[in-house]
Amino acid sequence: MSFAKALRCRECGREYPLDPIFSCEFCFGPLEVSYDLDGIREAVSRDSIGRGPSTIWRYAPFLPCDVEYKVDLGTGYTPLLRADRLAKAIGLDTLWIKNDTVNPTWSFKDRVVSVAIARARQFGFEAIACASTGNLANSVAAHAAGAGMECFVFIPDDLEQGKVVGSGIYNPTVVKVRGSYDDVNRLCTELSMQYPWAFVNINVRPYYAEGSRTIGFEVAEQLGWRTPDHLVAPMASGSMYTKIWKAFQEFHKAGLIDDPKTRMSGAQAAGCSPITTAFEKGTLNFVPQKPNTIAKSLAIGNPADGYYALKQMQETNGGAEMVTDEEVVEGIKLLAETEGIWAETAGGVTIGCLKKMVASGFIRRDEETVAIISGGGLKTLEAVVDALEEQLHVDPKIESFEAAQRARRGALVGAKA
Ligand SMILES: *Cc1c(COP(=O)(O)O)cnc(C)c1O
Ligand SMILES: [Zn+2]
Repeated sequence: MSFAKALRCRECGREYPLDPIFSCEFCFGPLEVSYDLDGIREAVSRDSIGRGPSTIWRYAPFLPCDVEYKVDLGTGYTPLLRADRLAKAIGLDTLWIKNDTVNPTWSFKDRVVSVAIARARQFGFEAIACASTGNLANSVAAHAAGAGMECFVFIPDDLEQGKVVGSGIYNPTVVKVRGSYDDVNRLCTELSMQYPWAFVNINVRPYYAEGSRTIGFEVAEQLGWRTPDHLVAPMASGSMYTKIWKAFQEFHKAGLIDDPKTRMSGAQAAGCSPITTAFEKGTLNFVPQKPNTIAKSLAIGNPADGYYALKQMQETNGGAEMVTDEEVVEGIKLLAETEGIWAETAGGVTIGCLKKMVASGFIRRDEETVAIISGGGLKTLEAVVDALEEQLHVDPKIESFEAAQRARRGALVGAKA
């Protein structure tokens, strides 16, 4: 059973029923789901959650939809992995990787879509749609297929092949829009007023956004019902970054963990860094940018939750960092080579920014840190294909292999062969 209570305006606090609406009629502020946390406190315990399924649905009382409407592809309860080799490489004592590359469509977007599609079905929508930087489209298309719903996904026309094919395979209508994500989003906002479709990140956005909280719930549970000293998350719209913190606070109010003290930091690519740039200038009002980065999944120039992300940095004594495209590639490689986890470009952004924040002393060595790795690397092959060590190319003969091995620059010739 869901304990969602109302939609609440983040600006004026006015409350609305749980309808497919997303902004306040009075002040146009964004609406957010609030819960009966006292009710949850009565009904839910660490044990009851522990007995739940190994998916996001173990947190069903905290989700704004009824489970009977779910389309369950197995999203969530992804591994929280101790990353000692990476920690050592960058100079931290304790680092954890939240590995969201292993979700059904290989990104954390399966969390938000699971919740949005359940709620959309509960509302009676028959078609589902989204404005996407790629991963969201993949997840919406997969879940629509699983539900047998009509599906329209709108994407910028310059996406990686893995993201385009990663939607097309489920056979939705894929609409490539000549323009940036911000153009796609504007088009979809107009369409949402004319078509009776659930646009997961527009007219059902308040419900969709709540799905990101499950990362925070899982991190707290997997650490043994506590929160880390520091957490670093990638930021596109800034939604996931803010919802992880909301999750920690709600777990506390529901009596499941102590008052969270986590410093929350955000990561962006320099080529699309409206939130980090505003943070560095010390203002809560970001200036929209025209994105130009290989981190396409984070390429939102006008971030819907940018203001709230900036407020959260202040509130939690966290920070924001940005990295160049070269540092994104280095970050992907560093994570892969030290921990065996292949992330997409957003993961390279997170690791690159984490490394910089440790190097500058902003994150202290003794702060136990969690890094959110939000998507898998196979979808962004283009980013790394030219950055890998040359393969050895040999005849099927031992001599040929050994000759190639000797010739290889920097290779450890004859090392315990
Ligand atoms: C969408 C996305 C994000 C961040 O999304 P927000 O809009 O900030 O919630 C991070 N990583 C990946 C891989 C994504 O697809
Ligand atoms: Zn309002």
